[in-house]
This record gives sequence, structure tokens and C-alpha cells, in this order.
Amino acid sequence: MPGWTTVKFTVEQRLEAFFSKIVVQESGCHEFVGARNEDGYGNFWDEGICKKAHRFAWEAFFGRIPEGKLVLHTCDNPPCCNPDHLYLGTDADNSKDKMDRGRFASVAGANNPAAFVTEDHVRDIYAHLRYTTMTQQAIADKFLLTKGHINNIKAGRAWPQIQMEITDATYVD
Ligand SMILES: [Zn+2]
Repeated sequence: MPGWTTVKFTVEQRLEAFFSKIVVQESGCHEFVGARNEDGYGNFWDEGICKKAHRFAWEAFFGRIPEGKLVLHTCDNPPCCNPDHLYLGTDADNSKDKMDRGRFASVAGANNPAAFVTEDHVRDIYAHLRYTTMTQQAIADKFLLTKGHINNIKAGRAWPQIQMEITDATYVD
């Protein structure tokens, strides 16, 4: 389109733009305070594309969202982008959750430092789970994450691609 240029941003700039719109609530939710759609989900403009904020957050923390998967909330708070409140699921999971929501009420991942987890971190976390006697809480503390986060990684709910890679190679539960 004449007159338009593609502006490329670094990953750091994109993340900075995103986190500048996140406000941590006392509930433990990290709410996106930029634009929202009619369902209450955050709209984050990234690299010329309007993205749902919680989906952007998932990818920032855990990697690419597998095809056909939804990013769902344990806290039932659409603008929330706290990685500890997000999990991958399907439409069916979503409906089921709406029925028995409440059982997740205690999953408040407060004080998450918004650490930016890389694939290498996740491999390292697997190594700790497999080869040390450290508890999940101890590993969480070491990596500045929460126990729920470590548990999600261990169960393959977060970073399933790394779990697959490691299961194929050496990881035996
Ligand atoms: Zn939340």
C-alpha cells in the first residue's frame, strides 16, 4: 500500500509494549488495560496485527500455540494475561470449565515476576525435575516461577513441544 511502510520491532520492544499495558491486580490477575473487544479480551496490536492479549501472553511465556488449541483462563477473567492463569484447551474444555469453574479459585499466581521463559529454561527445568531431588517449589523458586507453572511444564500443558523433544530423547517419568 503506497505510503505505508512495514515497521519491524525487536522482540524486546514488542514485549515492552505489551507489558506496559499489563496491570497486576490484587486478585493475582495481570490485566491488559489497553483496548478490549466486546467479550472483554484484550486487543494488542503487534507487528501490524491485532492479537488477543492473552494469546500473545501465552506465546511470550510458553511458545507457539498448537494448531486448534484455545488459550483458556482458570480465573475466568478475559483480560487477564497472567501465565499462571492461562492454559491450553479445546472448546469442550472451555464449556466444561464454565460448568465447574470455582475449583480453580485458589490458583492465584500472585507475584509472578513476568519472567520471560525461553526454550533453554524449559529444558533446564526438565533436567532439574529429572535429575535432581529438588521439589517443584524449589525449582519454581530457582527459576522465579510458581509451582503451578513448573507443574504445567512437567505435565506438558505448557511447552508441549519441549516435552515431546525430551520424552523422545531421555526423559522418563
Ligand atoms: Zn487471572
